[in-house]
Amino acid sequence: MSVIRVENLSKSYGKVKALRQVGFEVAEGEIFGVVGPDGAGKSTLFNILTTLLLPDTGNAYVFDKDIRKDYLEIRKHIGYLPGTFSLYPDLTVEENLIFFATMYQSSIRDNMVLIKPIWKQLLPFKKRFAGKLSGGMKQKLALCCALIHKPSLLFLDEPTTGVDPVSRKEFWEILRSIKNQGITVVVSTPYMDEATLCDRIALLQEGAFIKMDSPANIINGFQGNLVTLQTEDIFSLLNLMQHCGLNCTFYPYGEHLHVIFYDSLETALPKFEVFLQENNVTYQDIRQIDPNIEDCFISIVEKGGDASR
Ligand code: ADP
Ligand code: MG
Repeated sequence: MSVIRVENLSKSYGKVKALRQVGFEVAEGEIFGVVGPDGAGKSTLFNILTTLLLPDTGNAYVFDKDIRKDYLEIRKHIGYLPGTFSLYPDLTVEENLIFFATMYQSSIRDNMVLIKPIWKQLLPFKKRFAGKLSGGMKQKLALCCALIHKPSLLFLDEPTTGVDPVSRKEFWEILRSIKNQGITVVVSTPYMDEATLCDRIALLQEGAFIKMDSPANIINGFQGNLVTLQTEDIFSLLNLMQHCGLNCTFYPYGEHLHVIFYDSLETALPKFEVFLQENNVTYQDIRQIDPNIEDCFISIVEKGGDASR
């Protein structure tokens, strides 16, 4: 069963087209990830689905209810952890939870089982003002507050942005356990590495879904041959690559250069190495590697979207 159904959704702010004819469905019980860089339209989509913002055109249904007409009904059954800090900084940790439980006429005791693993970590700080928590702890409290009325569907807009790597990992383990309790999770992230933790992802670029599938299928569908290499001066090499004359896409990847060749490596790689040598580029560790979601994202964007989505 689909818990979310979106058809041709568009939204502009003046001249800025934040969403362009987005359409998708989310099945009950899945973790659906919306993955895209800053400004891609993630928050706009989340604000529409959580009934806080109206689209210009198109339709969206949550539990078969229309976001335009049935927003009060929808709000009862969803939880939302917005991208910006949504708690009361001058209430304590405990007071925030009580406030949200009361607002939803929900009982902390009845729903404690749902938040217990997270709440246990917050207990030592329960008298601390929410505004004085670390980034990771703030997000854990926000998650408790979003869950305390036992929603069937949870929206999390960039829950791990600005959170340290250890807390990020913990946060994703928590999302898995929430899914295991039967709650459908829709989560956005700019971190491509987190995409693989979702059951299905949509890659969002400039307001449009350029690809939607399971992370494994997206990786399997990668077109091209990916090569990595290391060099001391990546910026000079990037400039040089503009004139390499090969059928490829290239981009920096940490301290490495990634090159996607669209021709077979048997012909492309020798030409590439000749090019590097002719230009006196010192490099090491050149090899073919398997793509990750970030490589797939770049490859799809480069080809101007994917018709098979
Ligand atoms: P994301 O959450 O992926 O960063 P947003 O949905 O916040 O993307 O923004 C999508 C685009 O819409 C961006 O270009 C952003 O600058 C613009 N935008 C978002 N909110 C507003 C607003 N209230 N007024 C004008 N432009 C906005
Ligand atoms: Mg955002």
